[in-house]
Amino acid sequence: MRELIAEVVVAGAGPTGLMLANELALAGVDVVVLERLPVRTGLSKALNLQPRTAEVLDLRGLLGRAEERSFATVADGHFAVIPVGYTGWDTRHPYQVGIPQAQVEAALEERLAEQGVEVLRGHELTGFEQDAAGVTVTARGLRVRAAYLVGCDGGRSAVRKALNLPFEGIEGRGHGVSADVLFRTTPPGAPTRWRSMGNMVTSHSPGKFIGLIPLGEPNLYRLSYGDRLSRPADLRAEVPEAEVRAAVRERFGDEVEVEEIRWASRYSDDSRLAAKYRVGRVLLAGDAAHVHFPAGGQGLNLGVQDAMNLGWKLAAELRGRAPAGLLDTYEEERRAVANRVLQNVAAQNALIPVTPDQLALRALFRDLTAIPEVERHLSGLVSGLDIRYATDETHPAAGARLPDLLLGEGFASDLFHKGKFVLLTKTPAPAPHPEVVVAEVPDLPWPDLTEVLVRPDGYVASTTGSTDGWLA
Ligand SMILES: Cc1cc2nc3c(=O)[nH]c(=O)nc-3n(C[C@H](O)[C@H](O)[C@H](O)COP(=O)(O)OP(=O)(O)OC[C@H]3O[C@@H](n4cnc5c(N)ncnc54)[C@H](O)[C@@H]3O)c2cc1C
Repeated sequence: MRELIAEVVVAGAGPTGLMLANELALAGVDVVVLERLPVRTGLSKALNLQPRTAEVLDLRGLLGRAEERSFATVADGHFAVIPVGYTGWDTRHPYQVGIPQAQVEAALEERLAEQGVEVLRGHELTGFEQDAAGVTVTARGLRVRAAYLVGCDGGRSAVRKALNLPFEGIEGRGHGVSADVLFRTTPPGAPTRWRSMGNMVTSHSPGKFIGLIPLGEPNLYRLSYGDRLSRPADLRAEVPEAEVRAAVRERFGDEVEVEEIRWASRYSDDSRLAAKYRVGRVLLAGDAAHVHFPAGGQGLNLGVQDAMNLGWKLAAELRGRAPAGLLDTYEEERRAVANRVLQNVAAQNALIPVTPDQLALRALFRDLTAIPEVERHLSGLVSGLDIRYATDETHPAAGARLPDLLLGEGFASDLFHKGKFVLLTKTPAPAPHPEVVVAEVPDLPWPDLTEVLVRPDGYVASTTGSTDGWLA
């Protein structure tokens, strides 16, 4: 058995685990990444980066890499497939990046390799034991001793199960299927470029939905279909090709021919949230901590932002610069965000109509989205742009995301590439702590403030520039 010593073990090299490992490596933490699969599948569940995820990737200089691999720029988001735009938001990225999950993972793994961390593949975590000083993790053929373990091992997380944590939420009745389908010819009415979420999915009989997203190759589409009211007994069983072909026929008629079904996967409409995100020296992030129906395209985005929230806090704890309780704010902040996502997903599911009165409700809801404040509220919910963390300060800026500012030749986001705190100040000031980068700015988005301290993940820590409670 190979023995390793590290500061943090990350179990799972999906988007969450790879983002977290990058954050830890950036902070100089010795991290080991264990991945069950011997090789990448190259398959993708998620297809999008929400505007806030684009912003956080930009904070680390990673957005360009993702955009190079993208196949579409989608002008709006959606709520229950009712398009909601981002015009009400002050962001440099008022769009969704259309990018397969496998490409997000490839971009993150490429950066991780540049930071000298290799993913240890074929090493499934099979167990762990924790004591006061650390965690001993067993993976196939490997034992690692570390100060912390983070389970980023997906919805069926072995780490969460070993912790015996309740994983409860909203029990659904339905299911959905995603399949990547190559058609012989373009289906009638199907878009050839993914520009908007509008009308991608249509209801064609009560409780059912079906739609197509073009994947950037001629006649290759993501087919999504499902039923709010029924599910097969075994959700994990392979999706039969005949079922996918039947769904295509039902919606588009016999004249549309399927050339190849490259991948198909079934999922439930259950939503679940782990009762805790931390037990001693073991933490959870991403799908290991929360799962839900992929309404609005939020899951991957939630996981990447979990990682962005946890990385700098865990690094601070390991380096002795975290004030008491800082690491626990990870659960406080991110569990509340996930809970809100679960609620918006439940609301979206309720807008897939089953009865005539629900159809009328959906039509009314669509009309309401024409009101700018309503549209802003909904796009804020699904994009992550409305996230604001609780702080002791009452100023509206406290805990809010810093909108990216033009600073001379560059942008404020450039100041965050090293993963440190940033003090933006209108008057010259010395750095209050070695972990703080200071930048003089002509203006702030809040005219009554003269300086703000911004956390490494881009949220305002203090509207007076104080490091109290943030850096020891
Ligand atoms: C059909 C479908 C469509 C979706 N579409 C979208 C979308 O459009 N937008 C969006 O944002 N989200 C979408 N999602 C959700 C998104 O795919 C997930 O939220 C995302 O994959 C979560 O990332 P993760 O890294 O937390 O977990 P995963 O992607 O599940 O990664 C977990 C990793 O851990 C590994 N692993 C598992 N067990 C172990 C172990 N014991 N030891 C070591 N490694 C282990 C796995 O092999 C895997 O590589 C969709 C989901 C589904 C099912």
